[in-house]
Amino acid sequence: MSEARVAIITGAASGIGRALAVHYAGQGVRSVIGTFPGDPHDPQETLRSVRDAGGEAVVHEVDVRSTASVDAFAQRAVDEYGRLDYAVANAGILRHSSLLDMTDARWTDMLDVDLTGVLRTLRAGAERMTEGGAMVAVSSIAGAVYGWEGHAHYAAAKAGVLGLIRSVAVELGPQGIRANAVIPGLIETPQSLDPVNSLGPDGLARAGKDIPWGRVGTPAEVASVIAFLTSSQAGYVTGQSLIVDGGLTVKMRA
Ligand code: NAD
Repeated sequence: MSEARVAIITGAASGIGRALAVHYAGQGVRSVIGTFPGDPHDPQETLRSVRDAGGEAVVHEVDVRSTASVDAFAQRAVDEYGRLDYAVANAGILRHSSLLDMTDARWTDMLDVDLTGVLRTLRAGAERMTEGGAMVAVSSIAGAVYGWEGHAHYAAAKAGVLGLIRSVAVELGPQGIRANAVIPGLIETPQSLDPVNSLGPDGLARAGKDIPWGRVGTPAEVASVIAFLTSSQAGYVTGQSLIVDGGLTVKMRA
């Protein structure tokens, strides 16, 4: 069995997930790039960037709304590379809905991806990991820190991710498996560039001016923190969440 580490990353055909696969490539970590066929993102672009960085990866379709799909995705790591070390539950959707328009279907559809999808990914990872394994789930300042009007379902899911991660960390600690969360602020990705469900390009540009760091974040700036949390450099860190937001949430507003 090769010594190089192996990661599964959901939602890796775009945004933060894509940046993580590329970051991992530079560290010699091999990835199973999760791609969701319902979206137009091209996973081959992720694969090309991984190879340009000297890395190794395979692309695998995964829908985190399906346990069978997520299990097959995690199993691909074992079948392809003989091991699974890191599970990154990154896939997510963002939809706008006021509370009064929040039908049960809108609520459950959101939680199925952004919360239960994380559970499915961590569970499938845990089944295949051994001592030294690590997991990261992607939360959001919306929910983890702030409320966000028109996004109660998203915020509830992202807050729920933190309770999930803490409990998984406690449960898997004795097996030598760590679980942490990252809490991104405003990061320029297809999700945040969507003007209907998120801020869109103009909203992001405006919001960037109010961030102490002077701009919104890049996917690579979140990816490197996820990679740190899975690495042995964070070997005694578990059950924690790390905000990556350029100082957005610590700025006092009068
Ligand atoms: P993104 O839209 O580029 O990435 C999300 C990915 O999830 C996409 O590749 C999409 O195809 C995939 N996906 C959607 N539904 C899926 C499903 N059912 N099964 C599997 N994959 C599915 O946007 P991003 O910003 O890179 O998002 C990554 C994570 O970061 C998400 O969980 C998001 O909520 C979170 N986040 C983003 C920001 C931001 O400002 N961009 C802020 C906080 C948190």
